[in-house]
Amino acid sequence: MREGHNHRGISCFGGILRTGKARAMAVALFLVLAPAAQAERTKLKPGWNLFSPAQDVEMGREVSKEAERELPLLNDRRVDEYLNQLGQRLARKAPGERYPYQFKTVNDRAINAFALPGGFLYVNRGVIEAAENESQLAGVMAHEIGHVALRHGTNQASKAYLAQAPLAVLGGVLGSGTIGAVLAQIGAGFATNSVLLKFSRDAERQADLMATQILYDNRYDPRAMAEFFQKIEAESKGGRPPAFFSSHPNPENRIENVNKEIEKLGGRPRGYETDSAEFREMKRFLQSLPAPSKAGSQARRGDEGRGRPPSPSDRYRTFEKNWLRLLYPDNWRVYGEGSAFTLAPEGGIVEDGRGGSSLAYGMIVSVFEPHGDRYDRITLEEATDQLIDDLRHSNPRMRVARRHERERIGGEPALSTLLSNESSLGGREYNWIVTVLLGEDLVYFVGVAPEGDYDHYERAFQTVLDSVRFTR
Ligand SMILES: [Zn+2]
Repeated sequence: MREGHNHRGISCFGGILRTGKARAMAVALFLVLAPAAQAERTKLKPGWNLFSPAQDVEMGREVSKEAERELPLLNDRRVDEYLNQLGQRLARKAPGERYPYQFKTVNDRAINAFALPGGFLYVNRGVIEAAENESQLAGVMAHEIGHVALRHGTNQASKAYLAQAPLAVLGGVLGSGTIGAVLAQIGAGFATNSVLLKFSRDAERQADLMATQILYDNRYDPRAMAEFFQKIEAESKGGRPPAFFSSHPNPENRIENVNKEIEKLGGRPRGYETDSAEFREMKRFLQSLPAPSKAGSQARRGDEGRGRPPSPSDRYRTFEKNWLRLLYPDNWRVYGEGSAFTLAPEGGIVEDGRGGSSLAYGMIVSVFEPHGDRYDRITLEEATDQLIDDLRHSNPRMRVARRHERERIGGEPALSTLLSNESSLGGREYNWIVTVLLGEDLVYFVGVAPEGDYDHYERAFQTVLDSVRFTR
């Protein structure tokens, strides 16, 4: 189901605004209290670059699309969630520009990882399976984050572009909308030996030093990174060099450099962490999975034969915002933020073939602002009719299957309406809409599932709705 246009991304619930302010204050306090013992660390800064940091993100996103067509992504929610939690924690301590980092696991046992400009990181399952503890995995990820923060990819793309089109760069920073052209010109894509992914030894040394600092600031033992690189080097003696070193050439005196930086930081962090129960669990889980298939058949996910998401779990977890609390199946994820978000299983959100995405399985929670005379209090029925008109506008094949029925959600009067709609997977789907008037806003929940699967989902939708509490 596609959402309409008149829905506000952010509602005027006071609570949401208050959180923003509280967060700003927490950040300010943190800055004041930050330790002063960082004077000695090696200062690392990005080198010359034709692109703006925003263009790093644009380029990374462009190339990540290509990468994800070719890479056999593991697509396991638990592993990716773990990787993202760890990665976000590490990236928060990287200096400079804030990039929208995302981390994905690749179903490949080769020990390798890489980062595209702007923070698109890919970690092979082989890294997790080979790492002895969480700090070694964190070391590899911090090293990749170092490449992103130091903008090594676009630094190299800048040099390559300057060599090929010296006149085009006279003006300095490249204008917007040029990324595609630049990528085409220098042939930088997602390929072995791409300029974006093959780093110099000097870049490697810098990434190691930044990783040392990031690990230190996250209270990991920074030596774990160098130890891991040594370990994979030792294991491959006589055989093929590990994949990691073909894209990340081993700088000289790697261990020594890391140790020197640790000394500058004042020794290993106090009370440092080495391992975690989550890491051990992920590692065990990955080791229990079958080896990836050779053909990389997962890499091409055509339109047909797309896997149906797993049925909603019987176990529920709590979702909480400052105005709302509810339970949702623990094999679903929360997408989006603000007052509008979607709860969906992996694979529940699909491309609609028009460049957007739409929900095929799951539930949308959003807020609609009814229009009309603001002095005349609108009724729940009127507001719901406006919402459904609006939805039918962006979903022309939507039909009302069952008219309004009264119920209660979170102790408030609610209306339940069942709609039938065209599914983005082909065929028909049901959209179960439940609306509640909160102040002047219409809060609505839309459960979406194809007709054939609706029975499996209806119970989950009901459980979610029964669990709703409005807490503002
Ligand atoms: Zn590297």
